[in-house]
This record gives sequence, C-alpha cells and structure tokens, in this order.
Amino acid sequence: MLDPDEPPAFEVVNAQGAGSAVLVCDHASNRIPRRLGTLGLAPEQLADHIGWDPGAAEVAHRLSAHLDAPLVLSGYSRLVIDCNRPLANTASIAEQSAGVPVPGNLGLTADARAARVETLFRPYHDAIDRLLDARSHRPSLLLSIHSFTPALDGEQRPWPVGVSHWRDRRFAALMSTALGHRVDGVVGDNQPYPIEEAIDYTVPVHGEGRGLHAVMIEIRNDGLRTRAQIDAWAERLATAYREIEAEAIKLGSFPANI
Ligand SMILES: [Zn+2]
Repeated sequence: MLDPDEPPAFEVVNAQGAGSAVLVCDHASNRIPRRLGTLGLAPEQLADHIGWDPGAAEVAHRLSAHLDAPLVLSGYSRLVIDCNRPLANTASIAEQSAGVPVPGNLGLTADARAARVETLFRPYHDAIDRLLDARSHRPSLLLSIHSFTPALDGEQRPWPVGVSHWRDRRFAALMSTALGHRVDGVVGDNQPYPIEEAIDYTVPVHGEGRGLHAVMIEIRNDGLRTRAQIDAWAERLATAYREIEAEAIKLGSFPANI
C-alpha cells in the first residue's frame, strides 16, 4: 500500500533511551498513503483533530528529549486505520469521525482492510513490542501522548489536560496529582476519555496487558498552538514525571492481565 518513497508506518526516536519512561504517539501524523488519495476529505478536514492529534507529536518529541525516553510514533492518519482501536471496533477504520463522513472508508473489501492492518497497524505495534521486549530487564512506565479538541458535539471540555488509566489507576493518580500543581484548572480523571478494552488498544495491550503501569495523557489542543505552548507542556509533563518517577517505579510491574 505504501510506495517505496513514502515514510514507514512508524518512527522510533531515541530507541536506546535510558530513562524509565517509554512514550508512544498513536495519532502523531495526518499523512494518508498516496494510493488512498485524500480518503475523499478536504485538506482542512485532514488538518483537523479528526485526522490526527495536533501538537501531540511535537510534545512527545520534546518530552522524549527531557526524559531520555524512547518514543514510537505512528506515521499515518488515524483515519486510515486508528492505531488505538482494537481491530474489531467499528472506529478502527472509521466510516465517519465526529460527524464527518469519510468516503474513502466506505464499503471496503476484506482485502483493503487487511492491507491497512498489515501495512500500518501491525508494524507500529510490533515496533512498540520490540522496544518493550528489549527493555524487559529494567523498569518501564508507558505514557501514551494524545491531544483532544476543546469542543465536541457541542460540549465544551474544561480540562487543560487529562490523565486516563485502565484497571490500575496508581500511576495515573501520581501523574494527575503532580500535574495538578502545574496547570490552571482541573486535571481530567479518565476525562475526556476513559480507557476501555473494547475501545482502546495501546494502554490495555502494551501497558497492563504486559504488566506495565501505563497512562494516556490527553492535552487540550488549544494549548498546543504555538511552539512556546508546546515547549511549556513538554516541560510541565517532564517535571511532573520526574517528581513522581521514583514512587511510580516502586509500584513495580504486575502479572500480565490480558
Ligand atoms: Zn489521540
């Protein structure tokens, strides 16, 4: 599905990073494979939050530098295949997103779906697996970095940042408290999105699924519009993480539970 001159399905930054944090960015890019055109969408639709998480990749890159953390970023738009959705979820290859129909995703054959899975979804998650396997002898705490739109379906979302967890909330509680001292407003507790096994892939599978403490960090994207804002968020996250790092490492790992 990708031409030889197109970027790969994922990018790994600082693979040998010696810090305890491991960063992933599922919605880093709004790139569409050339052979799929624009999926029938206008450029401004692809540039909007339905195509990717604006600002998330930049924050993740800077945070990786602050924490000497490895970072894996997805190379293509969530509209082609959403790397944070289980394959059985209808939003894996979304026929509409936030009310916007995605013509290029309608009526796909099984082969067309499989091509997206094998070309984009699997290589990205295999890269995360390899990275975590290579670090299995030392502590890893997984942070999945996202951004969210300030308003959805007519609802304003008040949280400048949210920290979401799956079954075990201890790492999220530490991060949330540390971030709470550094932001104006309330840190979302499993807001704007809770993590659910049927809806989320990355934290359940690469985090708790392999016995690692994991959080999803969601930053409201109106706080990521300038370089200065992005730098400030990376700094804030790094400082909060460093403050709770020792305590989070002490949580240890737990038996893989899925
Ligand atoms: Zn996202």
